[in-house]
Amino acid sequence: MPRFAAGVVKFQNEVYPENKDLFHELDRGQAPEALFITCSDSRIETAMITQTAPGELFICRNAGNIVPPPSTHTGGMSASIEFAVAALKVPHIVVCGHTQCGAMKGAMNPEGLDKLPYVRDWLSYSRGAVEIVEELGAGLSEDEKMTLLLRQNVILQLQHLRSHPSVARRLAKGDVELHGWVYDIKTGAVDAYDPATGDFCPVDVRYAAEMKRLAADCA
Ligand code: ZN
Repeated sequence: MPRFAAGVVKFQNEVYPENKDLFHELDRGQAPEALFITCSDSRIETAMITQTAPGELFICRNAGNIVPPPSTHTGGMSASIEFAVAALKVPHIVVCGHTQCGAMKGAMNPEGLDKLPYVRDWLSYSRGAVEIVEELGAGLSEDEKMTLLLRQNVILQLQHLRSHPSVARRLAKGDVELHGWVYDIKTGAVDAYDPATGDFCPVDVRYAAEMKRLAADCA
């Protein structure tokens, strides 16, 4: 029996009974706080990182946390984004990249992808970020180049996101907020894009004002 199948039995026997009310409530519908777009990488545990429960995040995952620009060829990402944004009306959208991303390593070295033609095609949606690294990366170490690519890829995918009609409509109304994050697998750090500075900073610094307000509301 695979471990993940044994896990289902454990869930049914131990976890479900303790959370029965929550699952009954979820049976009536969902109102997630965010559309969370991240990489398929097995090392990213979205619920653990964000400390969220079932029903709180509408999650889309793919290699490289990529958002293809809208096109006449409808893909799974476009349909899922439209559903989350236009039907569920999520108030937040997060694009979350991560360290040690195999997809981003591939985007940087596409000549190594000859035997993975679909991956190579998919990563062309990150081409703009790779070009920025090629232009600005002179003199940077390989690690620094990768950090720059992870961040620029998140920024590029946020740009693609803005061009989706459902997102553009919500942005025009001002009732959806976009977030760009990079999660560090080794340290647990999450850096967030700060539109005020145009740079990334630790998540607690980025959201310091909101956290202060939340603490004041709770007091
Ligand atoms: Zn990845």
